[in-house]
Amino acid sequence: MTTRISPGLTGVPTDVDVVVIGLGITGAGVALDAASRGLSVLAVDAHDLAFGTSRWSSKLVHGGLRYLAAGQVGVAHESAVERGILLEVTAPHLTHAMATLVPLNDAVTRLQTGVIRGGLLGGDLLRQGARTSKATLPRPRRISATEALQLAPPLRRAGLRGAMLGWDGQLEDDARLVTTVARTAAGQGAHVRTRARVLDATGTRVRLRDELTGATTEVTARAVVNAAGVWAADLVDEIRLRPSRGTHLVLREESVPGLRAAVYAPVPGETNRFVLVLPQPDGVAYVGLTDEPVDGPVPDVPEPTEPEIGFLLDVVSAAFEKPLHRSDVVGAYAGLRPLLDAGAGRTSDLSRRHAVLTSRTGVVTIVGGKLTTYRRMAEDAVDAAVAHARLDADPCRTRTLPLLGAADRATLAGLEQPVRLVRRYGTDAGLVLETAREVTHLTDAELLAPVAEGVPATLAELVFGITHEGAADVSDLLDRRTRVGLVPADRVPAVHAAERALALAAARL
Ligand SMILES: Cc1cc2nc3c(=O)[nH]c(=O)nc-3n(C[C@H](O)[C@H](O)[C@H](O)COP(=O)(O)OP(=O)(O)OC[C@H]3O[C@@H](n4cnc5c(N)ncnc54)[C@H](O)[C@@H]3O)c2cc1C
Repeated sequence: MTTRISPGLTGVPTDVDVVVIGLGITGAGVALDAASRGLSVLAVDAHDLAFGTSRWSSKLVHGGLRYLAAGQVGVAHESAVERGILLEVTAPHLTHAMATLVPLNDAVTRLQTGVIRGGLLGGDLLRQGARTSKATLPRPRRISATEALQLAPPLRRAGLRGAMLGWDGQLEDDARLVTTVARTAAGQGAHVRTRARVLDATGTRVRLRDELTGATTEVTARAVVNAAGVWAADLVDEIRLRPSRGTHLVLREESVPGLRAAVYAPVPGETNRFVLVLPQPDGVAYVGLTDEPVDGPVPDVPEPTEPEIGFLLDVVSAAFEKPLHRSDVVGAYAGLRPLLDAGAGRTSDLSRRHAVLTSRTGVVTIVGGKLTTYRRMAEDAVDAAVAHARLDADPCRTRTLPLLGAADRATLAGLEQPVRLVRRYGTDAGLVLETAREVTHLTDAELLAPVAEGVPATLAELVFGITHEGAADVSDLLDRRTRVGLVPADRVPAVHAAERALALAAARL
């Protein structure tokens, strides 16, 4: 039972068409795009799949409304198109429509109500322009206070006149999307390696270090794509980035009881800025997010600050009946946006459009953008690499190439496997369970039980993370293949299950 995603550099080819540096969503997307065009690919990450920014997102598949508001019509349209592709073609198993609600209370003037309504109607035009069906994302409408409170019971009641209800896309989990894209790339023939750091690169060669053994090696390539996110400038000195930090809080659902829609809580004193309260699977909700410029060296794992946590709690407390307290916060995380430095101005104003830049030595860097647009970013990067290196490659296929486990929603709904596995692996849910049975010889009851009280991840998922998704240690399993680690108090009792999965798999691999 082998996986083509594995840690270290043992057995990697020494010459390929394309080397991809970084296995966040961008690098995983580039690996898939290049491999599915018939190119030989080696894609590496210094740490693990989704180690960087890609696991710290809001987990939204954006329609691009905020870009529309900023006058960036092209970026907004591109986002809406890619959202539709994910929801309807490539990843229906990992995405779903999410109701979004902007409360209209006495703090919101009639003029602001008009602006919010106009924005949502603009968002619906984007949906139509992207040809995404209204069965997938229904039209926005104004709802009564009673209906608003049914969808979001924690809302402050006093002065509530109703709400504007819209729809956007939500991911099951960002790291799961990265893992699935990387596994799909491996399925197309890409060599996908974690714990493999690129020490330096030119357009035709990379020097790599196996982070398990310390051994270094060189690989030659026709093209090298740098998808190292906020670390991209470490490898190509022509790149200038101006990262900005975004922080989220993690709350238990008891702190926001009954929440069934995302709430956009307006930031007092600002016309077009909101803090989002986002219900999630597995009994938690996120509150985010901030936008703080970051100077100095880029840390491996950014940390939220107390002022950011206080700001998020204050904005939501103003919109909710019961104020939130620091004790409601059971986890917090921060991510760095890899924004291109465009000189002066607030980081929130820097363009979210991606850029493809070819260095003097021929390294193609792809940077910026967002999770939602990873497919288009990958297409543009591989197009640039193919043109620069004059590669003999097929046209891009990813617009219609389903990720592993994808199927239409009716098929997914009809699957017999446990709902949790279908939500996270789609039609591969059966493969996950079958693999875990074969590897462990345990009963389904043991494989599908929550790994600890109140922690719904299962042993079956952990085993599959090792056999098929390249997980090599407890952290890979609890912080990226599953997201148990987002609540530190849940992570502690789950460590035993992760160690057990590693021992069971080691005995069979
Ligand atoms: C707080 C926040 C919220 C966001 N929310 C959303 C959202 O809801 N929806 C959305 O669409 N977008 C969102 N985004 C944007 C999106 O998350 C990012 O644009 C995207 O994840 C960037 O992915 P990436 O692959 O380019 O970078 P990363 O995910 O950071 O990946 C880079 C990888 O390169 C590796 N690496 C670095 N140096 C080397 C080296 N020398 N050798 C080998 N590997 C190396 C790192 O280990 C890392 O895994 C959000 C961003 C932030 C910060």
